[in-house]
Amino acid sequence: MQKRDIKNIILNELQEEVKKLGEKKYRANQLFNLLYKKGIEEFRDMLTLPISFRDLLQKKFYISKIELVNLTKSKDQTEKYLLKLEDGNLIESVLIISGKRVTECISSQVGCRYNCLFCESGKKGFTRDLTVGEILNQVLFVKEKKKSNPNNIVFMGIGEPLDNYDNVVKAIYILNSKDAFDIGARKITISTCGIIPAIERLQEHNWQIELSVSLHAPENKLRSYLMPVNNLYPLTDLIVACKNYTVNTDRQITFEYILIKGVNDSLDYADKLAKLIRGFNSKVNLITFNPTSDSLLQAPGSPHIQSFKDKLITKGIPTTIRISKGEDISAACGQLKNLHLK
Ligand code: SF4
Repeated sequence: MQKRDIKNIILNELQEEVKKLGEKKYRANQLFNLLYKKGIEEFRDMLTLPISFRDLLQKKFYISKIELVNLTKSKDQTEKYLLKLEDGNLIESVLIISGKRVTECISSQVGCRYNCLFCESGKKGFTRDLTVGEILNQVLFVKEKKKSNPNNIVFMGIGEPLDNYDNVVKAIYILNSKDAFDIGARKITISTCGIIPAIERLQEHNWQIELSVSLHAPENKLRSYLMPVNNLYPLTDLIVACKNYTVNTDRQITFEYILIKGVNDSLDYADKLAKLIRGFNSKVNLITFNPTSDSLLQAPGSPHIQSFKDKLITKGIPTTIRISKGEDISAACGQLKNLHLK
């Protein structure tokens, strides 16, 4: 029988599994605690569990691990981790500390299908989805090996999280669970390039997570150029889906807009953007383009970014400018690479 990674299982499913092994439901909560709060990596070391139960667990499950290959530290203290999965594939995650706010930016896939023009992560295509355990292991790595306790999780690393919907949703349940990571739903952000069916599905969950949608252009032609996914889910349909999301969930959506010099940063585009998203519960987060290794694209200067922001604000759109961290170690938005060991 092939063993299952116990970290791929959410709490109520694990409660059923332990019952099948002849134990009481609360043992599942205890297991969550040992795996995610204590970070124990072997069943034999779970000394608070009966030996017979540990043996049964050992026969049926295994505990996946992740390995650090390289650590890069930025002058602003941001750290980027190159992590090896059990099959040899590599992913990256980033830890950003700003006062009491400890944010980990995690990956959801090896590579990405969507190949946005400004992003390194999609340049070598898509390899596979991460499992639930592989998503969680990025956070466990920081907790156990770096002794840092992330209180904010953003799915903005490599991959499109809503393209790996089931595993990302399960990982969020475990990140949010009081017996595991206990990270508040409002401190967990999914960032999507606009997968409409998944945005609709997200509304089934009665939770308070943050949703960011990458727009990067206020009209179809330009958006398709920057983000080929727009050919699949065009801007007008996406805006309708976002509006419905805010109405059905009573939550605000953040629209991400990377400013690229001479491409999407004219004040005329700011006008069009304001017109497009006016009238529903949303805000805009402006991001300065972070140069990638082979890119001819450039970032606009700070005064221009400020003018773009001012324009949106005068049109009644709440707007912030994201301060990029870790740019010197290629850990900023769009700079995480799809690397393969094999
Ligand atoms: S921005 Fe997101 S969706 Fe686009 S290529 Fe990068 S990881 Fe994929």
